[in-house]
Amino acid sequence: MTDTRSTCPYCGVGCGVIIESDAGQITGVRGDPDHPANFGRLCSKGSTLHLTATPIVLQTKRLHHPQHRAARGDELQALSWDEANQRIADKLLSLRADHGPDAIGFYISGQLLTEDYHAFNKLARGLVGTNNIDSNSRLCMSSAVVGYKQSLGSDAPPACYEDLDRADCLFITGSNMAWAHPILFRRIEAARAARPEMKIIVVDPRRTETAEFADLHLQIQPGTDVALCLGMLHAMVWEGWIDANFIAEHTEGFDALKALARDMPPAKAARQCGISEADLLQAARWFATSEATLSLYCMGLNQSTSGTAKNTALINLHLASGQIGRPGAGPFSLTGQPNAMGGRETGGMATLLPGHRDPTDADHRAEIARLWGVDALPATAGKTAVELFEAAARGEVKALWLACTNPAQSLPNQALVRAALERCELVILQEAFTGTATAAYADFVLPAATWGEKEGTVTNSERRISRVRAAILPPGEARPDWQIARDIAQRLEVQLRPGLPSLFGVEGPEALWLEHREATRGRDLDITGLTYAMLERSPQQWPCPEAESQGRARLYQDSRFATANGRARFVSRPFAAAADKIDASFALALTTGRMRDQWHGMSRSGAVPRLMAFDARPAVRLNPQDLARRGLKDGGLGKLTTRRGSLVLPMQADETVACGQAYVPMHWGAEFIGGDGINALTQDAFCPDARQPELKFSAMNVQPAELP
Ligand code: SF4
Repeated sequence: MTDTRSTCPYCGVGCGVIIESDAGQITGVRGDPDHPANFGRLCSKGSTLHLTATPIVLQTKRLHHPQHRAARGDELQALSWDEANQRIADKLLSLRADHGPDAIGFYISGQLLTEDYHAFNKLARGLVGTNNIDSNSRLCMSSAVVGYKQSLGSDAPPACYEDLDRADCLFITGSNMAWAHPILFRRIEAARAARPEMKIIVVDPRRTETAEFADLHLQIQPGTDVALCLGMLHAMVWEGWIDANFIAEHTEGFDALKALARDMPPAKAARQCGISEADLLQAARWFATSEATLSLYCMGLNQSTSGTAKNTALINLHLASGQIGRPGAGPFSLTGQPNAMGGRETGGMATLLPGHRDPTDADHRAEIARLWGVDALPATAGKTAVELFEAAARGEVKALWLACTNPAQSLPNQALVRAALERCELVILQEAFTGTATAAYADFVLPAATWGEKEGTVTNSERRISRVRAAILPPGEARPDWQIARDIAQRLEVQLRPGLPSLFGVEGPEALWLEHREATRGRDLDITGLTYAMLERSPQQWPCPEAESQGRARLYQDSRFATANGRARFVSRPFAAAADKIDASFALALTTGRMRDQWHGMSRSGAVPRLMAFDARPAVRLNPQDLARRGLKDGGLGKLTTRRGSLVLPMQADETVACGQAYVPMHWGAEFIGGDGINALTQDAFCPDARQPELKFSAMNVQPAELP
């Protein structure tokens, strides 16, 4: 029996796990008692990880060999790695020669390791010569990235998990932590048990399991978060709860924000949000006057056409009340995916470059070109997730290389996504699991190694970098993602860099990580003081520059922010309604969220019967009054229609859903519910700053339906 320390591949909490293996098989998993994210605890998903790697799962649900289909609609046929790599390289070269480098797009994943991200980024920008590389993390946290940058000057979550124990007031908004980040929620429960006076405010249109735990639940109308924050700010100013010294010494832009908030008095904000003025005032008082207030937020803020405005509106509250830079205080975005943070650090997204650099900055591009040993990086703006698929649907992007993600399920407005995949001349899918919706559109399917089989690092929500370790060999011919990218890159180099030294001579993940580490030197996320060996002994938070022996738990404790003048910025943005309009034809606001025991498209978690048992029935939930008003029956079928598509699902009466709203878990793809899956309905309009689509708000209509 062998124990291997690694990290859970599900959510951004980043729990440490110990993988138990015997004779080349994973036999068990337990929480790592020494990992500071979880101290040995695991949730239902983490504690059943070994069941995603049983011999039967490895045999039946995993891809074992590279495959190719001669024509769309044909069956996939196995071929050798050598042949697959050469054919892919030849086609990419021909498309690049005919249409230019921007005819090629890469859509990768927050579930890749940092080393994979680095390899893809160098391949796309350094070799192919396009900034068309984006990640499914665009759907998860890009509003948080831009919010931090606009307000604090840097994409750096300032708080840490220990702050959950130190806060006197928690403001949880747009996050059902009890289900989506369960181990952090257990920590909140323990902190509350130790200090019953701690105040917990939850902002959510639904009465979620997290809301049930709150002292105050603000059940706002979907999409009204900015109005709520402006109303709370108005109350703080009016009641004298602001920290005038902090504002004067460490911030700028407060007068403009104050003028904006003047037009949103609490009574008006409460009306807009559909809550009582008394509750809004109570929230503002607890937030501003508690000794230490910590905000925790996630998709409910981020997945919105006002995603950046919502993030900055919340950070404004922290700056106005001085609730930042102290233990237990600060804005703290939670990442959904296990390595969304690693993607931000490596710049594996269209709007970023390695080391938190900016692709629109010529000096930043030159710095990375120098580090990578290439002449220059492309200057043309890259396309973000939705834009990439829009361009493919128009025929501008001709090839899509997809890694560790399932866009034919997870992206909004599936009609557009599927049209894009159909129109592409080349779709390459790197994937660990069989049968994903995207595989039906792929010309090449390349088998990837996954959790328990690959080496590298991930960064969790609190900036903590942990090692991911291999306990067994991947099944069949599956390979680590970085290696798949490198092997094709080496063939492209023969044509694109004849006679020049290889950019991809790296022999393993540690060499890739060292290249990435160098890109952080002197930057806000500097990790030049870390090594793989150190991380194996103890996961560390960034920054950890060369001169330091351990990472930093909290940022901005000296109240000097990452802006040019060191002052944080109040960002003034008015409340704006969601993109989809509620009207007589589409009278319900559809929101989406997570189930306790499932993960994303369920490729991995759906393989575990114990997890499926929790809630295996796809359904749309409506308030019983809304069902009755429409002549719909609990348990009957309803046809859901939005301006983008329609879908038939069972109806479920649910008092936790407010009147005028509907709720569907985001996990159900076409293989479970037919059609184009739940994202046939969802909204692809995106935040103009963060380019994150508005998955949380779709105007919807529902009518009784019959089985065909
Ligand atoms: Fe894994 Fe997240 Fe559960 Fe921790 S909380 S065990 S990281 S799914």
